[in-house]
Amino acid sequence: MPVTDTLCIDGVWRPAADGATREIIDPADGSVLATVAEAGVRDADAAVAAARRAFDSGPWPRTPVMERAALLRRVADLLVRDREEIALTESRDTGKTLAEGRVDVDDVTAAFRWFATLVESEPAGRVVDAGTPDVHSSVVHEPVGVCTLITPWNYPLLQASWKVAPALAAGNTLVLKPSELTPLSTVHLLGLLAEAGLPAGVAGLVTGAGDPVGARLAVHPDVDLVSFTGGLASGTKVAAAAAATVKKVALELGGKNPNVVFADACATQDGFDATVDQALNAAFAHSGQVCSAGSRLIVEESVRERFVAELAARADRIRLGRGTAPDVECGPLVSAAQLAKVEAHVADALAEGAVLRAGGGRPAPGPDLPAGGFFHSPTVLDRCHREMRVVREEVFGPVLTVETFRTEEEAVALANDTEYGLAGAVFSADTARARRVAGRLRHGTVWINDFHPYLPQAEWGGYGRSGTGRELGSAGLAEYRETKHVYENLRPAAVRWFAG
Ligand code: NAD
Repeated sequence: MPVTDTLCIDGVWRPAADGATREIIDPADGSVLATVAEAGVRDADAAVAAARRAFDSGPWPRTPVMERAALLRRVADLLVRDREEIALTESRDTGKTLAEGRVDVDDVTAAFRWFATLVESEPAGRVVDAGTPDVHSSVVHEPVGVCTLITPWNYPLLQASWKVAPALAAGNTLVLKPSELTPLSTVHLLGLLAEAGLPAGVAGLVTGAGDPVGARLAVHPDVDLVSFTGGLASGTKVAAAAAATVKKVALELGGKNPNVVFADACATQDGFDATVDQALNAAFAHSGQVCSAGSRLIVEESVRERFVAELAARADRIRLGRGTAPDVECGPLVSAAQLAKVEAHVADALAEGAVLRAGGGRPAPGPDLPAGGFFHSPTVLDRCHREMRVVREEVFGPVLTVETFRTEEEAVALANDTEYGLAGAVFSADTARARRVAGRLRHGTVWINDFHPYLPQAEWGGYGRSGTGRELGSAGLAEYRETKHVYENLRPAAVRWFAG
């Protein structure tokens, strides 16, 4: 595989200044999938300098909104054209199934379309009544400036699109740093932005490590805003680095998401089947490597045994394998390190008294399961409680813990007993109860009788340590705008505050 010049600075594709490279690993078998440029601090600085020039003296911040929206729509059209190619790249790079890769590309396309529509329809400003006809007062929105956008490995292109589309819609320039584990689809996106006609320098790309490259982008004095999606540990470092120059900061961090199941949701056979199915999807989609994964099942005690037995049986039937293979339902974890982390969590949980109902470790290699792949079986741990590490910490793998409750009050207390607050769900046939519980959950997204869907028109983000700020919705555009009040005196005269 040839070395690729994957840094895009000032519209030019180039290698790292010091020639460093990184091998991108195929998580399905541990082989080398591609080799990319490994940026360093010098490259990060060059990318910021280019974005700064493009913002301070380039055309993009002053390009009419209709033209910016048209460009986003051209990007969306190009994503549709390249759908299969990008889905395949995402599947190979992250390990997710090809079907999941296709959904991702469709969601990325929808994000570009949403922000095109939003920026056209949102008023550029508003006139404020100053209380006198002698003053014209208006509030206008302007781009923030140079934005650095740092993204994780689980949804590389999707997370990038939630940042790139609004940042460009609002007229900013940007430097994008994808996860060092999964940069390939982001490289493709930068090509599409250029093809759609984005002026050189407006969007830069540096492929490289969190430290030093992401860290440099977070602290750089010429950067005005940092939008970060990733883990809590890195997010707190980014927030601290950005504080030194009082940058605007948006953080989308982890989650430990409760899935609350009331017995009445399982009163009919159809209800039972649907609720088990949703719990399975909540926990094991993309092998549980989802920030909003429903990794904590909190089920009413009276249905626990029947519910968990069925869930565990279905978890054992999930077909594991290379994400690109037909009929595979779950791919590998992204890396050997992630696999080791998941294994350690399961071992700890069992040592702390959890009861293994499904999975538990690496599956035996087979025709669909290459020996070098980072596979872990979908795992169900029963009899868990809130003191266990596996219940408190984000595992980010195919591990579901089971806790039980007897009263609605207890269910709410358990669901809110987390330092995170990204997402949660309640399943109940009693509409009043479902809404009551949903209203009390301290999470940024709450599903009733469903799990995982989100809408580009609706805000996404976390309470507590799941982050600050919101992506998507109209707040997702507001993050990338400054607000300015212009007060115009139409009848200038001396104020005579001072007598002399
Ligand atoms: P991570 O924190 O390890 O890395 C995320 C990004 O930050 C990567 O690009 C990495 O290189 C960079 N980074 C690491 N250290 C840095 C530093 N000191 N300064 C600047 N950048 C740094 O996270 P990950 O393992 O790639 O992703 C998984 C995490 O992302 C999970 O916690 C998951 O919940 C979270 N996530 C959250 C959302 C959301 O919407 N809230 C969405 C997807 C993923």
